[in-house]
Amino acid sequence: MIKGIAASKGYAIGTIYLHEEVEVKITAELAKDVTEEKGKLQKAVEKSKAQIAKIKEKTIETMGEEKAEVFEAHLTLLDDPEFTGAMDLEIENNSSNAMKAVDDVMNTFVTIFESMDDEYMRERAADIKDVSKRIIANIAGTSVGGFDIEEENTIVVAHDLTPSDTAQLDRSKVIAFLTNIGGRTSHSAIMARTLEIPAVVGLKDITTQVKTGDKVIVDGIEGIVILNPDEATVASYLEKKKGYEAEREELKKLIEVKTTTSAGKRIEVCGNIGKPEDVEQVLANGGDGIGLFRTEFLYMDRDDMPTEEEQYKAYKYVLEKMGEKPVVIRTLDIGGDKKLSYLPMPEEMNPFLGYRAIRLCLDRPEIFKVQLRGLLRASVYGNLKVMFPMISSLEEYNKAMDIVEECKKELKAEGKNYSEEIEWGIMVEIPAAAVNADELAKHVDFFSIGTNDLIQYTLAADRMSEKVSYLYNPMHPAVLKLIKMTIEGAHSQGKWCGMCGEMAGDEEAIPALLEYGLDEFSMSATSILPAKKKILEF
Ligand code: PEP
Ligand code: MG
Repeated sequence: MIKGIAASKGYAIGTIYLHEEVEVKITAELAKDVTEEKGKLQKAVEKSKAQIAKIKEKTIETMGEEKAEVFEAHLTLLDDPEFTGAMDLEIENNSSNAMKAVDDVMNTFVTIFESMDDEYMRERAADIKDVSKRIIANIAGTSVGGFDIEEENTIVVAHDLTPSDTAQLDRSKVIAFLTNIGGRTSHSAIMARTLEIPAVVGLKDITTQVKTGDKVIVDGIEGIVILNPDEATVASYLEKKKGYEAEREELKKLIEVKTTTSAGKRIEVCGNIGKPEDVEQVLANGGDGIGLFRTEFLYMDRDDMPTEEEQYKAYKYVLEKMGEKPVVIRTLDIGGDKKLSYLPMPEEMNPFLGYRAIRLCLDRPEIFKVQLRGLLRASVYGNLKVMFPMISSLEEYNKAMDIVEECKKELKAEGKNYSEEIEWGIMVEIPAAAVNADELAKHVDFFSIGTNDLIQYTLAADRMSEKVSYLYNPMHPAVLKLIKMTIEGAHSQGKWCGMCGEMAGDEEAIPALLEYGLDEFSMSATSILPAKKKILEF
């Protein structure tokens, strides 16, 4: 049994196809004729463009526009003078042969991308390799990628699969794949999830342990691979596979179902998102709305604050995609474990108890107002609800609302529209807010319980610390009491109460939360259908 990273759920039992890359030998031989060498490069770049355009078309057909975007990025790269121009210069200045020029430039770019802090950017090094290898293969006149797969139930094993490799996989034959490298955000993993085939990545040296024709079991749930299994193991996995598939099919029936308890209470099951494009998955899984948009992600992985215009566009996009469905957007929750490279923060002994979230926003209204103006302007495009994180007292909520009023006045004076229908709420994630919920409920439109923080503050058990994780218990009676108080506090004033912490998608906790009268549950998209099932059974 080999353990890797579970990249795409499901089970597969099949025969291995070991995908070996044809090694093109790159020499240091100097170009005899620089112009001729540049011509070779130019031709190979053009050929690569044509090939990628074709793959892009095929991907649009089989997987949709969004998944084809990566190939658009590849085409942009091929048109980028900084990239292909650097290859030209390499030939011109150093008399490199065309293949060596591409290889050198590729290595420089890959080193830069791989050293970036951001995981997403690091993964993009794979795109640069993908494009460069294609150019090199075209100069050498060898073929790139290409899968010669005849057999059904094939499991592809490769060192890595490039996005174009993945797009070429024939789903009628390939039922899973395994790679030496890669993580959950690598393109091949993303595509496996879209293709809905199981995949295990990061298996280190799986390519050296197997050969074409070997039998294998892939467990995309646990991230496990079993080579040449015995009959009993195969039989047990066939059972698991049957059970999993039946369950998934069954769950799909719930996509359109509006969730009500057996007592007849309508319960909203919504999705949590970090980026605007995440709405797609929430909708595909039958989400009733967005229960938490963690806007701090708009501020991350960049060198400066997102402008009002950028934020307005992001919020408008989500609101329009969701139509009439509710969209709860949380204002900036930075601090604690979430830091911005361009916003220096004071060193604190206990950052989770320090300068973060609403505390920072009230202290820096010039930052807060940019977001509030973006939100207000976007509000005319859908059903917007805004909430403030880390509220511990009414004063903080009132101060935040004073700034909202200021922004409204400014917009009015500028002749810019906003909706008067926005609901304004708070996250209940500090025990003080839970205890005082009945008072706070007189002033706000709604609550959303942030259990990720509420649990750590109630039990004094840092959510980031493995050492005290045994104390971090959602079902601790004190936590449950606070949740109950919060829901009852909201209801006593005729307000609604949701939950957007991880606990909302915890199947074990759902019955208790329903018992207490929780109105809305918000969770990661993939938990929506299992949660709907649990609620319908209640
Ligand atoms: C929470 O604290 O429960 C929550 C949803 O917010 P975050 O995890 O972003 O702190
Ligand atoms: Mg929180």
